[in-house]
Amino acid sequence: MKSAKPKIQTDQVPAESDAHLQEVNQEIYKRNLGLATLNKTLSLLRKLYQISLLTLDPASLSTKVSETIRVDLNMEVVGVFLYNEKKDLLSPFPFSKSKRLEAAAKNIGGLDYKNIEQVKNDLIFKNVIHERQSELIDNIADLFSGPTSQKSLSSFLADSHLKTIFLYPLITGNKTIGALLLGLNREFSLLNNYEKDAIQSLSDVIAVALDKSLLYEELKVANEELKSLDKARAEFISIASHQLRTPPATVKWYLSAAIAGDYGPLNPEVAPVIEKAAQTNNHLISLIEDMLNVSRIERGKMEFLFEPFNVEELARFAYETLIPQAANKKLKLIYEAPKEKFPDINVDKEKLRQVMNNLIDNAIKYTKQGEILVKIYEKNGEICFAVKDSGKGISKEDSKNIFQKYSRGKESIKQSAGLGLGLYVAKIIIEQHKGRIWAESEGEGKGSTFMFAIPIKNDLKQTTLIDLSKQN
Ligand code: ADP
Repeated sequence: MKSAKPKIQTDQVPAESDAHLQEVNQEIYKRNLGLATLNKTLSLLRKLYQISLLTLDPASLSTKVSETIRVDLNMEVVGVFLYNEKKDLLSPFPFSKSKRLEAAAKNIGGLDYKNIEQVKNDLIFKNVIHERQSELIDNIADLFSGPTSQKSLSSFLADSHLKTIFLYPLITGNKTIGALLLGLNREFSLLNNYEKDAIQSLSDVIAVALDKSLLYEELKVANEELKSLDKARAEFISIASHQLRTPPATVKWYLSAAIAGDYGPLNPEVAPVIEKAAQTNNHLISLIEDMLNVSRIERGKMEFLFEPFNVEELARFAYETLIPQAANKKLKLIYEAPKEKFPDINVDKEKLRQVMNNLIDNAIKYTKQGEILVKIYEKNGEICFAVKDSGKGISKEDSKNIFQKYSRGKESIKQSAGLGLGLYVAKIIIEQHKGRIWAESEGEGKGSTFMFAIPIKNDLKQTTLIDLSKQN
């Protein structure tokens, strides 16, 4: 048995399916158009993002962005205005123009973009900047100072194909930073919704990119100012320290002569006072020396003179110099000599002695009672110098910073005078000897050990002017 076939009403169905097909076709066309616009927008946004990453100054950013949008979206003119809130002034960056628009502008004697002063009084830009509204411009003469007569304007419009101008505010956060101008060769009504949306999203991206580049420019200016301030400060410190250096050196000379008995034996009541004055004066001299060193470092003028020397001799000398200072505080200062004689190594002896001096001086300064052990020894191809004290120790928090410029321990600020420069200078000196410097402490109140290690073999040239100004 044959099954009955469904009856097809051939006279009605084709007409209905035709209409349906047409509808589907239209829908597909619309969606395709939408997708194509979206694709184009995405690729354009990607390009704009790349530009914003690679271009830092606002003028070239705006020029590149304008050119890319104009070419990608086939526009006649695209440009960015920058808004200065203080002056209420809107200034255009160079616009990107199509060839025909440029030629058309030339024909009517040029077409300049106006600087708009007093935006609040401008009918169009007031809305864009102050009201943050996008604007569609019909009267193009309002924007350009070139074509004045109606005739030349008409010929310009015909030759350039310019039909519509959009203005969008460029907004970041609660600030309007400028405006985007887009000149199209189509009427507004001919744009599809996707195109309108795409145009809107451009202004958001440009606003962010422009804001970033303005910020970069501000930072650049601030950085330049800081650099020149820093230079002025370094120069001031250098001059001041040079001036300050001579008087205490003279005082030192007289006090040493007095202590040595050059002016006759000292009255036992006066002797300790003179000793104290000499120590305070020595402290002042080393503070000034630290300031001078920092200023040399900052100006790139720290000079090292490396020559083979017996560093054990330096350590012993630093130790001996500070015996009276330790005795004054009733601290036991012990020196542990190396077991075997060292080879001479290439060092800047004056600077290295200064570091040793500084570490022992600090140990005395930051220890109230007990003893200080100064040790120099050889280990694994390095000469190690260590000063171990039974003093105030270092808190975990302070230990992170003490080798930085002007950094002082929290408690030290209250308890003793100082500039927080000694360890910073010491670190630079040791690093220039290709060595390392560090501190160990069990914690506050538990004493500390300051150490440095420098390699025995180094290839340091005899005289080196080391420019550290860029690192500091
Ligand atoms: P200053 O002594 O002028 O503060 P330094 O750069 O020599 O500058 O030292 C930085 C800080 O390191 C000091 O303020 C102090 O807190 C800490 N410090 C240095 N030496 C010792 C030490 N032997 N014991 C404990 N703390 C120390």
